[in-house]
Amino acid sequence: METYGKILLIAMPAFLLLVLAEAWYGVWKGKQTVRNLDMISSLSSGITNVTKDVLGLSIAIIGYGWLADKLAIVHIENTILTYVIAFVALDFAGYWVHRLDHEYNFFWNAHIIHHSSEDFNLACALRQSISVVFRLFTIFLLPAALLGVPTMVIAVVAPLHLFAQFWYHTQHINKMGFLEKIIVTPSHHRVHHAINPEYLDKNYGQIFIIWDKLFGTYQEELPDKKPVYGITRPVQTWNPIKINFMHLGLLIKDAWLTKNWNDKFRIWMMPTGWRPADVAEKYPVHKINDVYNMQKYDTKASTSLHVWSWVQITMTLLFISYLFGNIASINALNAYYIYIYGLFIFLSVYAYTDLMDRNKYAIVWEIIKNSLGIAIILQTGDWFGVAALSPVLKYMIGAYFLLSTIVTLWFVMKHAKEDQQVMMVA
Ligand SMILES: [Zn+2]
Ligand SMILES: [Zn+2]
Repeated sequence: METYGKILLIAMPAFLLLVLAEAWYGVWKGKQTVRNLDMISSLSSGITNVTKDVLGLSIAIIGYGWLADKLAIVHIENTILTYVIAFVALDFAGYWVHRLDHEYNFFWNAHIIHHSSEDFNLACALRQSISVVFRLFTIFLLPAALLGVPTMVIAVVAPLHLFAQFWYHTQHINKMGFLEKIIVTPSHHRVHHAINPEYLDKNYGQIFIIWDKLFGTYQEELPDKKPVYGITRPVQTWNPIKINFMHLGLLIKDAWLTKNWNDKFRIWMMPTGWRPADVAEKYPVHKINDVYNMQKYDTKASTSLHVWSWVQITMTLLFISYLFGNIASINALNAYYIYIYGLFIFLSVYAYTDLMDRNKYAIVWEIIKNSLGIAIILQTGDWFGVAALSPVLKYMIGAYFLLSTIVTLWFVMKHAKEDQQVMMVA
């Protein structure tokens, strides 16, 4: 996790710059594909995902190392070819995991976040899951294990394979000639993120499009069918933590409320979106039927809220950069610290994205987060060893916690007043 933290210290600013560059390119071209709050929501989802991964908060049921140890028939030499095989094997596994994520109710919860944006841009690529605790799908790496690809090689290639899926989340690149036949292009992936009936559940490939052609899930982007992005049951929130557990919440509720005992058990492995008939009738959920007249989720936001949301995400990025750059030394202070730090990051994201939603409980979350922050500073006389850099930093961080509480309170009161006026006019 220390190595991944170091990689992210380089990768995160690079991704952020590319996301912003795409937004500027959109302004310059007069074809804007980015909305500010949606972009902040996407970036925030990325923050929660990398924090969870760096803290190592998921457990592989069967580790790849075990699989390779037990099952390798041949042991290929550690050459360039090994890396190529690992890459293709990961892509094959990726296709199937992705397909199962889409097709089954239970697994969809882990992937809903990636499709939750109703825009399609580079930032969307950063919407990645935090809800997977047990990773079940190492089994799809069986081909790599049989060929004896070393664990180290998989560990190096896996992040590269993931990062290589970033670039094609864009509407600014049209069809790419012969490449369309081999790799996943922006055009292919636009189809994947679209909810038009023709495009739903198509193009699961991650790097190579050949798997979709092989296994019958390929769909070309059609000139007369402009993709409409999102999910058919819109999430209606900017809060990535809520989105991550939304579908699971619905499944638990449905399984609990249905009178049919058979449905209580089978709901989990039914096709995505399936609900027991009795609860579906009694508690309907909003579903988009006419995609071409869909209203994108948006919240009324003043310029000051846009600016403040950027202040909050920038602070959070600074906080995680400090964590990722100092995991070993923070861990050396106390083994629990990194988890407290992780909790603090999650609370931060929860609070400011709730404020973007104009949710009044944002102030409650903000108070919890800032109290935790101030308690840490008072208790330890430091902020996770930051005093070693400069003794004034902890005072600056403490001042930020106070300011953050006051400003959030101001926004919540302002929003309450505005909403009241709207109600009176109505
Ligand atoms: Zn998907
Ligand atoms: Zn995608």
